This record gives sequence, C-alpha cells and structure tokens, in this order.
Amino acid sequence: MNRDTEIIRAGYSEGPGLIMRGPQFSATYTTPGDPSSHELTYGRFQNPTWSAWEDALTVLEGGPAVSFASGMAAVSAVLGVLLKPGDVIVLPADSYYTVRLLASGWLKTIGIDVRLAPTRDNAQASALDGAKVLWIETPTNPQLELCDIRELVRAAREKKITTVVDNTTATAYLQQPLMLGAEYVVASDTKGLTGHSDLVLGHVATNSAENATLLRTWRTQHGAIPGPMETWLAHRSLATLPLRITRQCESALEFARTLASDSRVDAVYYPGLPNHPGHDVAARQMSAFGSVVSFDLGTKERAMRFLESLSLVREATSFGGVHSTAERRARWGGDAISEGFIRFSVGCESIVDILDDVSTALTQ
Ligand code: PLP
Repeated sequence: MNRDTEIIRAGYSEGPGLIMRGPQFSATYTTPGDPSSHELTYGRFQNPTWSAWEDALTVLEGGPAVSFASGMAAVSAVLGVLLKPGDVIVLPADSYYTVRLLASGWLKTIGIDVRLAPTRDNAQASALDGAKVLWIETPTNPQLELCDIRELVRAAREKKITTVVDNTTATAYLQQPLMLGAEYVVASDTKGLTGHSDLVLGHVATNSAENATLLRTWRTQHGAIPGPMETWLAHRSLATLPLRITRQCESALEFARTLASDSRVDAVYYPGLPNHPGHDVAARQMSAFGSVVSFDLGTKERAMRFLESLSLVREATSFGGVHSTAERRARWGGDAISEGFIRFSVGCESIVDILDDVSTALTQ
C-alpha cells in the first residue's frame, strides 16, 4: 500500500462492525477477581482510544509508540527512562528552549551533566565522548537548523550512545528518524501532526518493544496520560495529514522563495531554499521541507508593526496548524536570534491570500 493510504487507514479496525469507534471515557472497568486477567482495568493504565492512536503512530513512525499528555511529557519520559545521576547528555544548543530549561533545571539537580553543542554542521558529533544520550532536533525550532541524523547516529553508536530525535518540526510524515537509525523519536503532537490547534499531546516511538514497555511504565507511574478526547481528535486529524502537510509544504516553499526576493526582508531561513546551509541534508532525509518559515525583519519595532498589520494571519505561538500564524520569537527569550526574528507557520489557506496579507503588512 502507498504510505498515504496506510496513514489514512492507520489504527482503524479492518473487521466487520464499527469503523469509527469514538472516544471512550471510562475511568474504570468491571474487573472481577484477578486484575491481570483483564485487558482494561483503570483509566491511568489503559484506554482503548489511546491504543488505537498509538497503533496509528506506530504505522507512521515504524516502531512502537507511546502517547503522552503533551510534547514535554513525552520529552521528560524519554529523559527519565534513559538517564541516571552521573550520566552525560549532549543537547543541541539551539534546541527548543523548554527542553534546555528542563535540562538546566531538573536534569542538573539530579546530577546529570548537560553538554550543549550547535546543530549546524553536525557539531554535536565532537561533543560525544563519555556521553550516555545524544539528543538531536532537526529542523530546530525556531531557527530551522539541520543536522544529518544518519551520520550522528553512526557517530553515537560507535561510542555506545543512545540517540533521541525531537521530530516535532518535521513530523513523522516528512522524516522518520527510526528508519535513519535513531533509537527513539519524540514529538509534540500539538503541532503539524494533528494540525488543528485544538489539542495538546506528545508521543515517543522507539525501536524495541522493551523500550516501549519502560515508557508505558513511566507514564503509568508519573501519570502524564493523554486524554481520550485528545487522542480521538488526534486520530481523526491524522486522516488528513498527507493532504494538509503536502499543501503546507508547497505553500511554504513558495512563501520562502517570495520572501527571499523581497528587499523588505533581511534574511529568510527555510531548508527548502538552495542557499540554506542544511538544504542538502534536508533533501536527503526529509520528503519535503516543512510548513515553518523563519525570517528576519531586523528590529523589534519593524517585527511588531508587521505582526500588528496582518489581518488573515494571526499572531500566535505554536506552528503546523491549518491556520497560518506568526510571532516574534524573541518575545519569549532563550534563543540566539535577533529582536526582529519572525517564526511563520504556513497554513492551508490559499497561498495567494497569505502572500497578499504578508505583502501588505510588510509595507506598513
Ligand atoms: N519539542 C519541540 C521542538 C517543540 O517545538 C515543542 C513545543 O513547541 C515541544 C517539544 C513541546 O511540546 P508541547 O508544547 O506539546 O509540550
């Protein structure tokens, strides 16, 4: 079957009866006698709506998947099962800021050494000696830097280091880190994977059933379980993933090319542009270049005026949704970017309308 067909059917029962099962909210189940004789016992332990969603994620990722209440719950679970006091983790210096905050806070206080190195040019490869975990994010949020997953996995494996890839920006539709050799992939499903900006979720997928069991045990004991309503909505959104992302990537490429030739824009960062430093790597390991385009308007004042002047595009954080959004990223702090840096998420609206709105706002 074509991958798009597999994704559209993923996690749905193929037998007779219900095709759409709907969300199941039960917090407990009738379980006479020995609990181990029952498949469903208690709402923190199992839920059939999660299971269907996880079956679908397994098809997408190519390895068993565990769903969590948010992307950060998924990130914490991987860190929690892999690291113990005295271990070293190599993190991208330009990774999602909250991941770095978690590392400099929680991980440091429990005695884990956090080493930072930039994503560009696979610079993390020279920081691996003595590490337990290599954490990659590619493309990074929000600077859209890239590294070569296959090469970094090879370098890590030679030193018996486990590789985790944060795949949020690309999504499993555009990039499959497990297929490129990584042991774990983690993602915020709040973003493009589900794409409607109406839920917060995350997941981890891994290359072995044993790893997945450890992650499930972590989830049961720490309690960062996803809600049945969210997992049902996510699963419902998956059927349109190929359509949404294909459209968004096509529009994002046109958007980036247009901005790159606009003298009102100081710089454009998009891996689909041939002059992007990660373009060749992106062309090798991603099936398209993604829905996020970042660009620089030089100053805070210009960026704020631009955002205020947009009418179709909303000023909002997050990315990957069907509605185009943009924000001045420096307002959050934590990233080495200019005050005029805009992260723009290209939605599913007509690209003609998006470009009209942006061009008018750039004139203000
Ligand atoms: N990883 C990346 C790259 C992200 O961009 C985000 C959120 O923006 C997260 C992890 C955390 O995900 P969530 O907000 O769903 O907890």
